[in-house]
Amino acid sequence: MNLPSPIVSRIAPTPSGYLHLGNAFSFVLTWLIVRSQSGANFLHLRIDDLDADRKRPEYVQDVFDTLEWLGVSYDAGPRSVEEFEDVFSQRHRIPAYNAAIERLCTVSEAVFACECSRMQIVAASPTGRYPGTCRSRGLEFDVSNTALRLTVPDEKVVRVQDWLQGEVDVAIGQTMGSFVVRRKDGIPAYHLASVVDDCSMGVNVIVRGADLLPSTAAQVLFAQKLPLLQFQKTQFFHHPLLTEADGRKLSKSDGSLSLRSLRDDGVKATQVYQYVARALKLEYTNVQTIGELLEVFSMDALKELAGRNHLTV
Ligand SMILES: [Zn+2]
Repeated sequence: MNLPSPIVSRIAPTPSGYLHLGNAFSFVLTWLIVRSQSGANFLHLRIDDLDADRKRPEYVQDVFDTLEWLGVSYDAGPRSVEEFEDVFSQRHRIPAYNAAIERLCTVSEAVFACECSRMQIVAASPTGRYPGTCRSRGLEFDVSNTALRLTVPDEKVVRVQDWLQGEVDVAIGQTMGSFVVRRKDGIPAYHLASVVDDCSMGVNVIVRGADLLPSTAAQVLFAQKLPLLQFQKTQFFHHPLLTEADGRKLSKSDGSLSLRSLRDDGVKATQVYQYVARALKLEYTNVQTIGELLEVFSMDALKELAGRNHLTV
């Protein structure tokens, strides 16, 4: 695989908690991939807040504080909480998401309406995977308190081509099932908004954690149905997740490992750069600045991450 030229990528956190070391790893990796290539490459900051029910202004501020602390520069996107709310919030792009939903509704059997409550779904399916209750009920699409779901047959498998993981077959019919594209309250779902935004920004490289492989598969499937050719050409880097030594995943709800508390404790971003340098087995790991990290980084070094599911912190 060759990287596109120029690369257009994005850093797209969700403001549902304080960012952790895993997010920093992802941001630095994205920045390195974009900035290490010659040409007019472009990095967006996008804060995916549309269905972030736990969104708080301090979580949005934390994104800016984190990027500044890391020295991760971006070429377009909000610079402050106020600018984000006034101009960049996904709330302002709801018409574009709704247009994509309307197009999906015209594709034969691409979506169906569903009026199940979460309680009913859990009662019918212990794993929480949607059991297909409303698939053949033929409910009207535009009725209040009705969700829209993408039709995903049980046997559906989506193949994702990935730089680091290789070719991955995701059994999306078994894992996610028919997923929501418009919530019951009428808000477009995260997957849909994210794909529509990626396409309108011209994104062609996406770097994200390996835990998001099912999301990628859902988005690829959605892009195939519309179709959104731009997204179908996107290249993916699903990097290993950072975990505690005992294998526990870092999470936004685990405050102790938040970058905010590390910053408050006086920890310098140098430690993140050196962690990345060690993880990639770079020749020189005692880097002091993100610029030095960029100097020793090469795309070849990413093969250290190939096929790995997690890295311990
Ligand atoms: Zn249903």
